[in-house]
Amino acid sequence: MNIIADTHCHSLASTHAYSTIEEMINAASKKGLYAIAITDHARTMAGAPGKWYFENLCVIPDYVNKVRVLKGIEANICDYNGSLDEDEFVLSKLDWVVASMHEITLKPNFDIDACTNAWLNIAKNPYVNVIGHSGVSAFAYDYERVIKEFGRNGKLVEINNTSFRVRHDAISNCKKIAKLCKKYSVSVVVNSDAHFSSQVGEVDKAIGLLKEIEFPRELILNANLERFKNYLENKSINID
Ligand SMILES: [Zn+2]
Ligand SMILES: [Zn+2]
Repeated sequence: MNIIADTHCHSLASTHAYSTIEEMINAASKKGLYAIAITDHARTMAGAPGKWYFENLCVIPDYVNKVRVLKGIEANICDYNGSLDEDEFVLSKLDWVVASMHEITLKPNFDIDACTNAWLNIAKNPYVNVIGHSGVSAFAYDYERVIKEFGRNGKLVEINNTSFRVRHDAISNCKKIAKLCKKYSVSVVVNSDAHFSSQVGEVDKAIGLLKEIEFPRELILNANLERFKNYLENKSINID
């Protein structure tokens, strides 16, 4: 199964990723992707760029080398109320917002109720498109309760290919999450979380997990061009 967009990628600007935005776009073009979302880490991640970086992403044309470049951010959830580390004004100007928990920017307290509360508030955040790699075991939450709310609020649940390489503890939770997305018909996106150009569009492991549980293809937003474009249109994101 091929994907037509990779909606979670990092550039040199994150300072622990190693390709320029242009190199990431060209890699997407070579792989025949319709779109790539550049989602560098928001400011509370060590070495991350500041708000002006995100505010000024609009200088990048919507299409480069025939690839739709979604100007995005990976915002850090920085407390158990689900607060994000970027201003609403900046988030509202961006095409694509991934919200994630990272142990560097949110101290794990291994409290399922606290994580559930954080994600329930993220579900209601109108600026968030994607629930980023939420299988991390330090931040386990009430999957049954929260996945339903992600679906009800139109959030896309991410199956993150990089988790198979760097977040091994998350894999069994990812499977639980994917099974619940199937049970409640919640759409997912399959993303590389690339930190180098050669990783763009590389999602084999994540697709493998979905195949294993016979996940319905029609719930994978970025497996179908028409479906993906419809999503962008419904969010008033330019596709011309
Ligand atoms: Zn992340
Ligand atoms: Zn990332």
